[in-house]
Amino acid sequence: MASEATLRRALVDTCRAMNASGVNQGTSGNASARLDARRFLITPSGRAYDTMKPADLPVMALDGRWSGSYRPSTEWRFHRDIFAARPDVGAIVHAHSSFATALACLRLDVPSFHYMVAVAGGDSIRCTPYATFGTQELSDHALAALEGRKACLLANHGLIATGATPQKALALAIEVETLCGMYLRARAVTEPTQLSADEMARVIELFRSYGTPDFPDDDLRRVTSLAPRRR
Ligand code: 13P
Ligand code: ZN
Repeated sequence: MASEATLRRALVDTCRAMNASGVNQGTSGNASARLDARRFLITPSGRAYDTMKPADLPVMALDGRWSGSYRPSTEWRFHRDIFAARPDVGAIVHAHSSFATALACLRLDVPSFHYMVAVAGGDSIRCTPYATFGTQELSDHALAALEGRKACLLANHGLIATGATPQKALALAIEVETLCGMYLRARAVTEPTQLSADEMARVIELFRSYGTPDFPDDDLRRVTSLAPRRR
């Protein structure tokens, strides 16, 4: 695991990259990174990312106690609850990106209209019901929507993306935002054709080795026993 100093720097850089990439604006959004089994770093509430320093990030324990010079993000509950429930998660990014938020205002899940939806871990990206920012209710909704997933939309609010590192969580947030933009554009014409559950299962299997020497590019169909359905 990376040192605390490395994680503090990575979280600040990730927040700045998040706003520079256009998936977030102003002091909206927040981010966190796991320090160990019981503690995590989180962005302070309401502070501009371009003047935020690594030392400004409070440390929070899973019991909700915190230390530092600035109050933790108002969304500490869902960061805490995700780290507690999901040992696979090393970092969390929350953003108010335009397309994801537009879809979330329509209270729509992202269905399997594109194979890349599988990067979020399943054959859809769920949207939660609405709850006020910072509440335990919002956290409970987020945890349910993240079941078997690495990302979700928050109704009338934004998105959450998780990853092993802050950089990976931000990369997934950007991917989800891109998919939401594609889905909204396609849906403006008509409801796009969805890929079958079998096909999405194949893609999820392929993603396990995508980008590694183990990728079975000699025989993509041997990855599952399921024949792809032609649509
Ligand atoms: P914080 O500045 O408290 O992190 O709040 C921003 C936000 O996006 C709340 O949902
Ligand atoms: Zn928010």
